[in-house]
Amino acid sequence: MFQNKKHRIALISIDGDPAVEIGQEEAGGQNVYVRQVGYALAQQGWQVDMFTRRSNSEQSAIAQHGPNCRTIRLKAGPAEFIGRDNLFDHLPEFIEEFQKFQQRQGFHYSLIHTNYWLSSWVGMELKKQQSLIQVHTYHSLGAVKYRSIGDVPVIAAQRLAVEKACLETIDCVVATSPQEQKHMRVLVSSKGNIEMIPCGTDTDKFGGIQRTAAREKLGIAPDAKIVLYVGRFDRRKGIETLVRAVAKSSLRGEANLQLVIGGGSRPGQSDAIERDRIASIVTELGLENCTTFAGRLDETVLPFYYAAADVCVVPSHYEPFGLVAIEAMASQTPVVASDVGGLQFTVVPEVTGLLAPPKDEVAFAAAIDRILINPTWRDQLGEAARQRTEIAFSWYSVGFRLTQLYTRLLAQTASNTRPRIAA
Ligand code: UDP
Repeated sequence: MFQNKKHRIALISIDGDPAVEIGQEEAGGQNVYVRQVGYALAQQGWQVDMFTRRSNSEQSAIAQHGPNCRTIRLKAGPAEFIGRDNLFDHLPEFIEEFQKFQQRQGFHYSLIHTNYWLSSWVGMELKKQQSLIQVHTYHSLGAVKYRSIGDVPVIAAQRLAVEKACLETIDCVVATSPQEQKHMRVLVSSKGNIEMIPCGTDTDKFGGIQRTAAREKLGIAPDAKIVLYVGRFDRRKGIETLVRAVAKSSLRGEANLQLVIGGGSRPGQSDAIERDRIASIVTELGLENCTTFAGRLDETVLPFYYAAADVCVVPSHYEPFGLVAIEAMASQTPVVASDVGGLQFTVVPEVTGLLAPPKDEVAFAAAIDRILINPTWRDQLGEAARQRTEIAFSWYSVGFRLTQLYTRLLAQTASNTRPRIAA
């Protein structure tokens, strides 16, 4: 077990505040990952400081999550929401504030774990100014993302260069799925160290709720056939494919077929624009009577939605990992997902759910129908899905594997810097 109790480490996630509400614009898997990794590492003996930028003047500078785990919000530009593609110019201020924070505390972090390319740049700049170990999780790769979108942002060239430098020069990059690891090697660089450590899920929070009890709580009829989507409103999430698949379902027209779309949006922001676009497709296809927009699902209701569903659909164009899939699986609900990225790792076709080619509404409709028409098979898939998450995807095991990685890197650095005894 890890010996160096209360070693202080920094998780840096400038654009993904681990302490905010999840499920609306730009707050999703990365925020959950940083928070849960922070909790798990604190439980395993580390003193964890999670750094982010202040994006709202009402936010406290420090949010304490437990005795050894806190979120620290530093100034980096105005205290308001700034989209990721416009944050780069504020990073030098974040670095200055980070250095001031270290000075005030009277210590330097010897290990930082950065998240998303913006924070990787900050980490590499800090590494020029002080001796430290840098571990990084990308959460999204520009090299993958820019292949699939038409309007590439101005910042793209900068991002690609930073992602390459990060992989080639820092101490270790964490890939969250074998698919992401392969993309790094093929599309980013053949140089640098990668360790594959998946994401996790809360197997206590998700699971243990019976479908009938969940439906009773949510006011859903016991015989309804529930197709569930959970996630942000973003075109690349492929919600349109799901809506078109439901329109093509052989169960369409049966009174008990219901599509539930969970996720928040803020007026005037890009997620509200996508929500309105999806709502207009629902209307165009005549699905209003069987579709519910449930809004942002907070943690008090989310486990009930997963448990109430017959099938959870993850129709993303791409996912490096995709937390929603394993949350549904932990809740004993089979998943129909796009045959891409980390979803090929988490969902085992014909065992815990089904995979379908992205954007292929006919294939999604067929996969959803296969599960909806066979409740016995649905339950078998759900049972196997739960077992898979218990074995492979707990936050405890993620924290344990990161602890092993950090401990190894710290020990290597200590032995490299120890004075050599002359022979
Ligand atoms: N989420 C939530 N409430 C919502 C919608 C999403 O809590 O209304 C959470 C969801 O449970 C998951 C995260 O947001 O933990 C989304 O992570 P994922 O990796 O699936 O996608 P990302 O947001 O990283 O693209």
